[in-house]
Amino acid sequence: MYKISIVHKITLILFFISGMSFTSLFAEELPVIHKASLHSPMRVSSHFLCPDCTVSLSKSLLTLPEEKIMAITIDDGPDPRDREFSEVLKKHDALATFFYIGEHIPAYPDVAKEMQAEGHEVATHGNRHNYFLSLSSDQQERNIHKGRDVLAKLGIQSVWFRPPYGAFNANTVKIAKDLGQKTVLWSIDSRDWAKRNTSAIAQTVISQFHPGAVILIHSHQQASLEALPLILTAGQQQGYRFVTLSSWEKVLLTASCRVNQNLCPTVVASAAPLHSTSSQPVVADVAPIEPPPESKSDEETPVSENNSEMIVLQIEN
Ligand SMILES: [Zn+2]
Repeated sequence: MYKISIVHKITLILFFISGMSFTSLFAEELPVIHKASLHSPMRVSSHFLCPDCTVSLSKSLLTLPEEKIMAITIDDGPDPRDREFSEVLKKHDALATFFYIGEHIPAYPDVAKEMQAEGHEVATHGNRHNYFLSLSSDQQERNIHKGRDVLAKLGIQSVWFRPPYGAFNANTVKIAKDLGQKTVLWSIDSRDWAKRNTSAIAQTVISQFHPGAVILIHSHQQASLEALPLILTAGQQQGYRFVTLSSWEKVLLTASCRVNQNLCPTVVASAAPLHSTSSQPVVADVAPIEPPPESKSDEETPVSENNSEMIVLQIEN
């Protein structure tokens, strides 16, 4: 099997010494890594995209036609515009996952319930749009707890948590897990938060299509609503289906199990850790490209996401 190269080892050591973020560390290497992953057994790890998932994400893993899937995720609602997103999705026989901010839900409870009734998945983006690395453990726990419970009161059972700004650490993942929430980020950032136009948003997403992609857009961006039909049309022309995150996870589980029985759910439940400690990516404090908000407490923070290169390599020993 492939062993981690000297260059990667040195880079990893420098990372821990310097305290660099995973984002800045791997951003320049990603295009090469992705290209390599198409032609080798190297696997792109899901430990960063989905640090609490037992699945792996690899372009070469999803080979069957029915496995050509992507998950669109729509953050920062509920927003009345979500109904328009849903209409567009419906025209393309597509489903999505909405990540809702808890404290916004009381203003639009019907929107949340309608999205679930339409077959979409609804999950929590926390109760407030805080930068989690600035919160204490107690504040993180309260934030996720409230975000989950405000949905539960509407009859919506969230199983996913997306940390605002993609900022989290191992403690965040554990807190979320204890609350029944799997932390998940994204593999394709539309960068719609940068106020870009419809064409730029669509092209950014379409140019990065890959099996198993998790696409990030925001419901407060009109340009994203207008880009969505372009994204869906291009994806369907290429043979992709757009599914909810829970469906995405099931497909990844099935495919992972097919190629490696150690990744089968029944084995995973009782087996030792899937990978040796030495090759396991550490879920470290991850600083987004964008400077963190000045807020150190539960104050509302600007609504934006900025962490486009989130997948890190895991090379099997
Ligand atoms: Zn957000």
